[in-house]
Amino acid sequence: MGQGQPADAGQVAAALGGRSVILVGMMGAGKTSVGKRLAAKLGLPFVDADAEIEAGAQLTISEIFERFGEQYFREGERKVIARLLNGGPLVLATGGGAFMNATTRDNIAKRGVSIWLKPSFDVLLARVRKKSNRPLLKTADPEQTLRRLLEERTPTYALADFTIESLDSSHDAVVEAILRRLDAVLSEDAPPAEKARRKVEVPLGARAYSILIGPGIIDEAGAEIARIAPGVHCAIVTDARVAPLYLDRLSASLDQAGLRVTPIVCPAGEATKSYAEFARVCDALIEARIERRDLIIAVGGGVIGDLAGFCAASLRRGVRLIQIPTTLLAQVDSSVGGKTGINSRYGKNLIGAFHQPSLVLADTLCLDTLSARDFRAGYAEVVKYGLIGDRNFFEFLESNWSGVFAGGPPRAEAIAVSCAAKARVVAADETERGERALLNLGHTFGHALESLMGYDSARLVHGEGVAIGMVSAFRFSRDLGLCSGQDATRVEAHLKTVGLPTRMRDIPGFEASPEDMLAAMRQDKKVERGRLTFILARGIGESFIARDLEEASVSGFLGREMAVSA
Ligand code: NAD
Repeated sequence: MGQGQPADAGQVAAALGGRSVILVGMMGAGKTSVGKRLAAKLGLPFVDADAEIEAGAQLTISEIFERFGEQYFREGERKVIARLLNGGPLVLATGGGAFMNATTRDNIAKRGVSIWLKPSFDVLLARVRKKSNRPLLKTADPEQTLRRLLEERTPTYALADFTIESLDSSHDAVVEAILRRLDAVLSEDAPPAEKARRKVEVPLGARAYSILIGPGIIDEAGAEIARIAPGVHCAIVTDARVAPLYLDRLSASLDQAGLRVTPIVCPAGEATKSYAEFARVCDALIEARIERRDLIIAVGGGVIGDLAGFCAASLRRGVRLIQIPTTLLAQVDSSVGGKTGINSRYGKNLIGAFHQPSLVLADTLCLDTLSARDFRAGYAEVVKYGLIGDRNFFEFLESNWSGVFAGGPPRAEAIAVSCAAKARVVAADETERGERALLNLGHTFGHALESLMGYDSARLVHGEGVAIGMVSAFRFSRDLGLCSGQDATRVEAHLKTVGLPTRMRDIPGFEASPEDMLAAMRQDKKVERGRLTFILARGIGESFIARDLEEASVSGFLGREMAVSA
């Protein structure tokens, strides 16, 4: 807990200017006790959302869970929080799962300042053990469940405006720390909300790193990088389209922070993920005398991130890597999680390594220079996170997609939520032994289509293949009786609305047969012992890994689908 002068609560209340203060975090984080004290100091009403729900339903939360299920509770919780926030400024303590809902987070961002209360795990456990009425902890091993829930939720809680690590401090000390942070955040020097940065943590122990998201971050790259690697030599690997747009600005920022710069410019396009370009960049790095303590900075889309990342993993058996992704796809997907690599003539990404970056800087304004087609292609990966495990986020995108395309807060929110979703999956399964495969939703179909089109980006780019692949995965799931036709139609309708292709027939000049598709799918690296692995769905937000799929059912689906496509 920081030291210093006590904050003037009256001044903080005035600076809030009608906004609420919303406390988020795990059960047992002390939101109610802290919230009551904070509200008294600020002269605001205090409401505990869980207590409000219980009073309205005349049932305890446990009883609501038992009688109606979690989904019903979450829906009610979303409505109650929306109503409370609409009712004027207050201090609001939310339930542990409330902030996982994208619509609720959006509402909170519009109406107030969110604070993640983060005590140590031991404090949480001790407090939770005292109360036995937590429905999500009614399991054989509550400690294990609490740990898992905390891991899952950490990246999303970190989307709050700020975090107060309360460790084992008293509630009064936590309130004082909150007032001091509010005072700083609300002071005139603080940036307005639309300029504010978002920070997502990727909790990977010794390899943990931060993703900073916001407008203009590229100009602050020098200071951010010097913080973790002062005085080093930086090799910037970029491509010929991105270099004229951002290289000078980035170099100036690094120079100002006392970091030496060597730029290496590659041709733009997928063909750059090749043995030849890998060798050329590695030799250029050696010639520039990039040592193990130095840095490689990847500035560009997924192609540059993958190539430069693989060079960083290989050069001198591993040099630190910073990702500065400049496409939407790279900001929400390829720059996070440590997968790096190049293509072989036998298929995409067949040569590679896991090599986590030390920092990711996502400048949301860089996306303004991206072509509309590349922006849309990246958007397919944003939608993917909703389809995998977050129905609320999908619904947020259905309502806010035009804001995401236009820029401003909805764009930053969509990128941050996507990064948090990816961080969650990567933290749970860094090297894709299980759950991480969910991120391949739509990719088995998509990669096969890309390969059949000869990686000709004039006709199909990766994200477009993923869009068609996701619709195919939902239609296949529907045919297998796993998912409702309504959900499959809804997925297709949204992707179509934003202008993405959704069927194989949408690809110009697509003439492959179902047999060609199946052969291309077998070539994909996700084939295990001859069985095809697909990511299928029981509905929007309910994807799962289906490992042992019979080829016959896949070829039956392809036959039907491609007959329609003909
Ligand atoms: P890309 O890197 O080819 O970028 C697309 C185009 O946009 C390029 O021509 C590039 O020069 C240009 N560009 C980049 N930033 C720009 C900007 N700000 N303004 C204007 N133009 C800009 O493609 P991509 O879609 O970013 O990435 C696709 C690649 O990512 C594929 O190779 C795919 O396999 C890989 N990928 C990797 C992972 C991973 O986890 N490592 C995940 C998903 C995809």
